[in-house]
Amino acid sequence: MAPNDATLTPPERANSAARIAVLLPLAIDTVYDYLTTDAKSVPEGTFVRVPLGSRKVTGVVWRHVGDEEKSELARSKLKHIGAILPVPAMPKSLRELVEWVAEYTLAKRGAVLRMAMSVPSALEPAKMRTAYVAVEDAPKCLTPARKRVLNVLADGLPRGATELAREASVGAGVVRALAKAGTLHQVMLPAWSAPKPPDWRLPRADLSADQHTAAHHLAARVEAAEFSVTLLDGVTGSGKTEVYFEAVAKALELGRQVIVLLPEIALSAQWLKRFRASFGTAPPVWHSELGQRIRRETWRAVAAGEVRIVVGARSALWLPFSKLGLIIVDEEHDGAFKQEDGVIYHARDMAVMRARLTKCPLVLSSATPSLESLTNVKAGRYAGLHLPDRHGGAQLPAIETVDMRSDPPPRGAWISPPLRDALTECFAAGQQAVLFLNRRGYAPLTLCRACGHRLNCPNCSAWLVLHRFTETLTCHHCGYFRRPPEVCPECEALGRMATCGPGVERIAEEAAALFPNITREIVTSDTVTGPGEAADFIARIENLEIDLVIGTQIIAKGHHFPLLTLVGVVDADLGLAGGDLRAAERTYQLLHQVAGRAGRAQHAGRVLLQTYIPDHPVMSALSSGKREDFLAREAEARELHGQPPTGRLAAVILSGRNEAIVANTALALARLARGNLPAEGGMEVFGPAPAPLALLRGRYRYRLLIKCSRAHMPQRWLRRWLGALKAPSRVSLRVDVDPYSFN
Ligand code: ADP
Ligand code: ZN
Repeated sequence: MAPNDATLTPPERANSAARIAVLLPLAIDTVYDYLTTDAKSVPEGTFVRVPLGSRKVTGVVWRHVGDEEKSELARSKLKHIGAILPVPAMPKSLRELVEWVAEYTLAKRGAVLRMAMSVPSALEPAKMRTAYVAVEDAPKCLTPARKRVLNVLADGLPRGATELAREASVGAGVVRALAKAGTLHQVMLPAWSAPKPPDWRLPRADLSADQHTAAHHLAARVEAAEFSVTLLDGVTGSGKTEVYFEAVAKALELGRQVIVLLPEIALSAQWLKRFRASFGTAPPVWHSELGQRIRRETWRAVAAGEVRIVVGARSALWLPFSKLGLIIVDEEHDGAFKQEDGVIYHARDMAVMRARLTKCPLVLSSATPSLESLTNVKAGRYAGLHLPDRHGGAQLPAIETVDMRSDPPPRGAWISPPLRDALTECFAAGQQAVLFLNRRGYAPLTLCRACGHRLNCPNCSAWLVLHRFTETLTCHHCGYFRRPPEVCPECEALGRMATCGPGVERIAEEAAALFPNITREIVTSDTVTGPGEAADFIARIENLEIDLVIGTQIIAKGHHFPLLTLVGVVDADLGLAGGDLRAAERTYQLLHQVAGRAGRAQHAGRVLLQTYIPDHPVMSALSSGKREDFLAREAEARELHGQPPTGRLAAVILSGRNEAIVANTALALARLARGNLPAEGGMEVFGPAPAPLALLRGRYRYRLLIKCSRAHMPQRWLRRWLGALKAPSRVSLRVDVDPYSFN
């Protein structure tokens, strides 16, 4: 440990020492004060080791505390900081983001900081490796093998022993012997070298006039180096990616760093391929499932400014970029940007904040922008760019509804005659099709035909989903599983258990019976669990090894398959059930995205939506292509009810193992809130009510909803109420500001 790391602080040393406040990446809100004798070496943002009880913890110097500031802890009680870690200080804008996100989400500052310090080992000194260079006065008379080694090193670049032996086609012993003889010289190099930087000088796509105008606008924003938000709103296949690549190129040219956020990083294979085609190399990827080593090196390289662009999931927002010049949020409407556990935040919204604090432009890209973003464009807070046409003259697919009341599928089947005919035609033409159903497994419900008993999860208020491939009944919430019973657990009737409703596995079974000669594949989060599998399956579709894909929303996103011409939506009404305020908007977005997979190249695309409510505004908006009417109605309805984006929402979810205690605490909170509302009005408290998922992982759940006008910040009030609430420790409270999930 460093010399100034003293657990016992002699009073004379304490007197000359300066006081600094350190924030630790723990679930705490307060900063802890420490002493240092060398304040100049620990500017704000420095990563330091500090004693905490009997432990040593790494934290960030949050601020320097003036002598005149009063503090509860007497100076003589304070401990000295330990080692100063050899990494660049956390940029000011990132520290401000930590503060801001904690303030906004009511999370503890330390918990937010932890997201920005997600790779503790990145803060340790870099590992070094041994490499070799040739000495200048190497002997002339050498064996051919030894000569080859020296020839390889003639370019002056140091190489590790293995690498050197391989390049020179010699055994490792030759390199060792040369080193021993003093002909090779050892040098130490960092264990990892930064990846090849992307080359913005390479020729990229020839842009159409519309694309060019949009790209020019974005590049100008990058050049301006000021905070701005631009919504790039273009139909699927209009070339939004090519357009924002121009902004990326401009940022790279100016020596700045770029973050690209994608909602489903497991499916980034095609994106990476296109980036490589445009810039000569693929950027590092960032998500939570990467190995520790690659995360450590990427984190360090970002901090050192060696990595110029990272593409990642929402957690990439927390990387320590110090020269950030552009943030892009692709598929900005996507719900996956909302983090639902730990610190509950929306990565798109926090990206706006990071751009603001960094003073850099942000680009939101989508074919189906969120009502929030569209409202911001309308209000003039965001700039809007529009790409109305598909690139290369490709037509948007024709979307038709199939009225399931007049064209029902045969009994026990789910594919209607019109969809079956369309599939037949598609396969006959040698083209590919997608059957979309946002439901994993075989059947969502198993019940007893004798007594009506439904098989529920013992830990959750949810049905068990039958998965045929694994022959299990599984809970999609907690992972509980069991073998399907032969006997009803309730009435003990034998052989009366029946499955209800379809999942993708059942649709695959039906398709197999209808089209025995075509190749099929089921694509869900069960089958595609990482970037490897995703790349694999994409390659098989591209190589035409798969005729029919049966999949969940995982197939809705971003892909471009030229021969895919038919999309059949098995149950277009599925997302409209339930009381979610965004149900219609989300269903529209999802179905539009799925539809967008069809006919992206020279062959026209066709989309069939199987629905029982063909007159529903979502279905008519999709089939008529009149998005604006639908959005206008949606916005009007939200405004009428004070829902977002007109009003603000915040939810409190209380949970615990004892239902009565949870319910009583929820009631107490509601009472506190109602007795302490803003005098001027404009805020309402709904509930408490048992959550739709009333039991989750063995915990009872109650919800409260706060709705207010945009003039109010619900956070301030929530803090007040929660501060006054005496909640038993057995009840846990989660605050969800701007909730997207109402389960
Ligand atoms: P979007 O993101 O808007 O759905 P993409 O950027 O994926 O659209 O573009 C769709 C397809 O069209 C991609 O294969 C892309 O490479 C191609 N494309 C778009 N614009 C151009 C262009 N100007 N020149 C060549 N190809 C283009
Ligand atoms: Zn469960």
